[in-house]
Amino acid sequence: MSQIAFIGLGNMGGPMAINLIKAGHSLVVFDLVPSAVQTLVNAGAKQATSAIDAVKGADFVISMLPASQHVESLYLGESGLLQHISKNALIIDCSTIAAESARRVAKAADALCIAMIDAPVSGGTGGAIAGTLTFIVGGPAEGLERARPLLEKMGKNIFHAGAAGAGQVAKIANNMLLGIAMAGTAEALALGVANGLDPKVLSDIISKSSGRTWAIELYNPWPGTMENVPSSKGYTGGFGVDLMLKDLGLAAQAALSTGSAIPLGELARNLYAVHSTQGNGMQDFSSIVNLLKK
Ligand code: NAD
Repeated sequence: MSQIAFIGLGNMGGPMAINLIKAGHSLVVFDLVPSAVQTLVNAGAKQATSAIDAVKGADFVISMLPASQHVESLYLGESGLLQHISKNALIIDCSTIAAESARRVAKAADALCIAMIDAPVSGGTGGAIAGTLTFIVGGPAEGLERARPLLEKMGKNIFHAGAAGAGQVAKIANNMLLGIAMAGTAEALALGVANGLDPKVLSDIISKSSGRTWAIELYNPWPGTMENVPSSKGYTGGFGVDLMLKDLGLAAQAALSTGSAIPLGELARNLYAVHSTQGNGMQDFSSIVNLLKK
């Protein structure tokens, strides 16, 4: 069985690593937070003393880190992991980062004859726990085929978006639309309620009408309209406002680099930024409804 190094064991990486262990894989894990490592050790992983220690002899290196700067500083530079990963290993970076950063790391890896794919995910913490994530892959098709048996243990849908960085572009486009659609859904509900409608009744109507969105059907932002979603749990769990803001920032970066117009994406970014500065950065992103309702 292959040796897997897994680095970054947070809300997403932790459950993803546990699913690989459940499937019988042998994992060496590392995170800066000791309690995150302990959870994996309890599940059967071997604890590494550092990221460099984790990748020694690994066939696969999987990383799930917060943002571009974490991924670049982990892999690049004189003390970066690329200097310690064996030439026949495959790097699978599942973090959501700038396409430019993904390309930079993939290029540096390629120069050392190390294969790499970017494989950001969609599906949230629920999908990570259930092993039903969607993987959106950029990089060589051979890399994806080597990774596939592992990705299938953590996810249900696997797409090849194109060359290095393409997975990130597709992921960012999706999340920009998600941010816009959630804000739009929240605005429509707020308008209806302010004009006397019951939010549950209005949600049922929109769910079966042309304004239907993923947000209204499966992730309703209005408290009390749906069970087991963040709006019914004080906006805890789920996908944080600051993470949405990060992704909308990545969309803006991608738009600038190509001269693309993203007026709705920028408007959504502004809304989430205001909401975050009002102290809601750690709340689920569906709490944007609180900025819009009377
Ligand atoms: P998180 O903050 O819960 O976890 C990140 C982990 O990385 C932390 O445990 C942190 O200690 C660790 N880390 C940071 N730098 C490190 C380093 N140098 N070495 C080792 N460990 C390091 O974040 P998350 O929610 O798990 O998200 C991870 C990525 O997945 C992000 O890019 C996010 O945008 C993306 N994502 C998140 C969700 C979600 O619903 N949370 C959904 C899809 C994609």
